[in-house]
Amino acid sequence: TGETLKLHPKVRDFLKEEKKKLFIDGGWHESADGQTFETINPATGEVLAHVHEAREKDIDRAVEAAVKAFEEGSWSKISASDRSKLMHKLADLMERDFEILAQLDTLDNGKPIQEMRNADLPGAIDQLRYFAGWATKMTGQTIPVSKSFFNYTRHEPVGVVGQIIPWNFPIMMALWKIAPALATGCTIILKPAEQTPLSALYLGKLIEEAEFPKGVINIVPGFGKSAGDALVKHPKVNKIAFTGSTGVGKAIMKEAANTMKRVTLELGGKSPNIILPDADLDKAIPGVFSGIMANQGEVCCAGSRAYIPEHMYDEVMARLADYAKNVKLGNGLSEDTEMGPLVSKRQQDIVTSYIQKGIEEGANLLAGGETFDKGYFVAPTVFSQVEEHMTIAQEEIFGPVVACMPYKTIDEVIERANNSPYGLGAGLWTENLKNAHVVADKLKAGSVWVNCYNLTNAAVPFGGYKQSGIGREMGSYALENYTEVKSVWINL
Ligand code: NAD
Repeated sequence: TGETLKLHPKVRDFLKEEKKKLFIDGGWHESADGQTFETINPATGEVLAHVHEAREKDIDRAVEAAVKAFEEGSWSKISASDRSKLMHKLADLMERDFEILAQLDTLDNGKPIQEMRNADLPGAIDQLRYFAGWATKMTGQTIPVSKSFFNYTRHEPVGVVGQIIPWNFPIMMALWKIAPALATGCTIILKPAEQTPLSALYLGKLIEEAEFPKGVINIVPGFGKSAGDALVKHPKVNKIAFTGSTGVGKAIMKEAANTMKRVTLELGGKSPNIILPDADLDKAIPGVFSGIMANQGEVCCAGSRAYIPEHMYDEVMARLADYAKNVKLGNGLSEDTEMGPLVSKRQQDIVTSYIQKGIEEGANLLAGGETFDKGYFVAPTVFSQVEEHMTIAQEEIFGPVVACMPYKTIDEVIERANNSPYGLGAGLWTENLKNAHVVADKLKAGSVWVNCYNLTNAAVPFGGYKQSGIGREMGSYALENYTEVKSVWINL
């Protein structure tokens, strides 16, 4: 694609700063043992910055700060309306520095700048505004048990929360996690993914500028097996909120059992996107295509299994292949780029090995699959003649690869769609109102999109059935996952 845009001067300054430090207890600190790691621009393979790496000692320090802020610091004394104001202030600063944050995630993750401007950043800021509204609106119940007793309930913050996020939507995932925790009065240790720490560190600067009390939000980039694990094991962390792979989610849940930490998990998926026989194909085909290809396919709820009525299969396949061939692949910093590189060489290797497996197992590579000399790109890939037992129809690929399968009847496709250990999202394309509701009812997924796909909103709960996770983020449902309910008995 065309010219890459000029970096914002503040992005250049930020990248030039010698080494990115950890944000702990309201200040910037080197890691205890001085260890740093590189973060890479996946469009070019170049090193963007060196970042201090949090390990166990740094996690201890961050947890101590968060405990202090929760138990005795000003956060425990601040009113709900002041918490709300601080959240709006942070949202204002994010709006002021919108382009800086957009460029940082595009550099670090590779995704198109247009997606940052139109989806990720507005979505991230909305979380703060939405949950800032909730801070003042959380009430309990009064329960008139009998003439002699009554009871009231209090929704208290769960305490110190460890938040471990992935690299696919760096700033958006950070705010999905931070916003409900702040609204409920929790304190936070946020561990960004090792591939994409930059926007979270810039957010630390804005948190400082907004004058949040010390220790309320601590930001500690590091690796899963050291920093992430230390957070999960820490006895003073009351809850872990995690988004990432199902394998790591299971390990976290097992480990959390030792201290009976609360856990919410947003995990992987292999989501079905179903075209019904009464669909409007002019909407359904681009919908199915963007349902898998958006964000380079690096989306937990990506519609990676497409189900197409047998009699429409050839037409749909030809048109999907056409879309794939016309995508503008390139550096995310070009305004006209539609698809950027995958986040890392490792992710590129994972995705290309799945493509290889698809070919070996007998699926037909209709379009895409190519990689290029520079950057971790994989061209949008469409497989036809896929069968349910094939690896590409069973496992999460987390890249721009769609497995397309024909079906005969609606009952059959519902059964096949549900026949997965995952249950995060599902899509449905139909012009028939009854079919929309009947099929949505039968799909075992946390989100069902009818004639749309991948939509999220701060007011709408999001989460998985089955092995796609536990708990819900966003909406009033998220508040339940950040609070303990206390019931108080009064003897009249
Ligand atoms: P991952 O699950 O290993 O990493 C996600 C986050 O968890 C990162 O912050 C990582 O540092 C942390 N982490 C890793 N191991 C940990 C541990 N033992 N304890 C605590 N924290 C730990 O994901 P990945 O390796 O970056 O990607 C691998 C696969 O995971 C992808 O191919 C994709 O299938 C899946 N994935 C899913 C999502 C999602 O949104 N559901 C996001 C990213 C990756």
